[in-house]
Amino acid sequence: MSSLKSGFRFSPFSHLYIEEKALEYPITREITSKFLNSNKVLIGDYREVFTRPRQSFNLQKKAVKLILAVKKGEFLFKAPEVCHDFGFSNFYYTSPILNCPYNCSYCFLKGMYPSSNLVIFVNIQDYLEEIEKLWAEKKNLYIACSYETDLLAMERIVPYSRRFIDFCRGKKGLIIEVRTKSANIDAIKDVLPAENAVLSWTISTPFIAETYEKNAPGIEKRVMAMKKAQELGFRVRLCFDPLIYYKGFEEEFYKLIEYIFDNIDKSKVMDAGIGVFRIPKEYMKNIRSCGIYDEIFYFYYEEGKKVFSVEKSIKEKMVNIAVRELSKFLPQEKIFYL
Ligand code: SF4
Repeated sequence: MSSLKSGFRFSPFSHLYIEEKALEYPITREITSKFLNSNKVLIGDYREVFTRPRQSFNLQKKAVKLILAVKKGEFLFKAPEVCHDFGFSNFYYTSPILNCPYNCSYCFLKGMYPSSNLVIFVNIQDYLEEIEKLWAEKKNLYIACSYETDLLAMERIVPYSRRFIDFCRGKKGLIIEVRTKSANIDAIKDVLPAENAVLSWTISTPFIAETYEKNAPGIEKRVMAMKKAQELGFRVRLCFDPLIYYKGFEEEFYKLIEYIFDNIDKSKVMDAGIGVFRIPKEYMKNIRSCGIYDEIFYFYYEEGKKVFSVEKSIKEKMVNIAVRELSKFLPQEKIFYL
């Protein structure tokens, strides 16, 4: 590995690790020009840094490094059963960025990746071409492109939300979902909305947001971003996922729904998804065995075939409350729950 150069502006990343092959891509130049003050280190393969042994996900979160790489192999994956399919049978996800600038205590990425460093794959065009091929084959296709990161939160570093929105515009039968907790809607305010691009906000009750969603914007900011997205003409989805139970959940959830619909236009809400906290068993095992001590991973969970999830009675209670409150503002056919 060899050092490229240091620059002169403030940077949130002390180091940028850059695959040699990534240097050929204009996006790499665009990103590196924003971090003149970071040390640039050339690497052969991002996994040298990202998957090396004995890393601490939570410790690295205190000083995240940025890795720029070229994606090889598979670009699209069939979504697992633990994800909402919103009624689409051809439901896939893709990950042009690995890891997230936020640091939610309950985040499944802690069990999925050995590192919390951010990886941006700079060959976005390859992703879009793969989606285009699959769309041509399936005709109807739903692509979630922000499940293992928060694309909108990353938009000022790498403008991928707009790439996906621009790409899907006019492609009948293709739906692209950008899921976010970001308030960064201004980053795409000049983008022409697309009928088949959905901006999907994850919203939690204030107690959960303040306790477990470190670094993410507060609820008011997220709701204001949704409001603005609607005004700009974007299709907006509400995601209450994961629901986490605590004393006072019902009262706070009721107030949350009132607050949301006092501020956004219910007639322009595409739909809403509800899901309780659940995590694949493999990820939970990784989390518990590598010294991650977020309390949420040590509560009691029911063990299913492939996932750990909250107890059935608590799950039913939370889902019933959420459906009841949402039904006051949205028709039943717009409410999806797992
Ligand atoms: S916003 Fe989502 S992906 Fe990002 S840290 Fe939170 S749970 Fe993880």
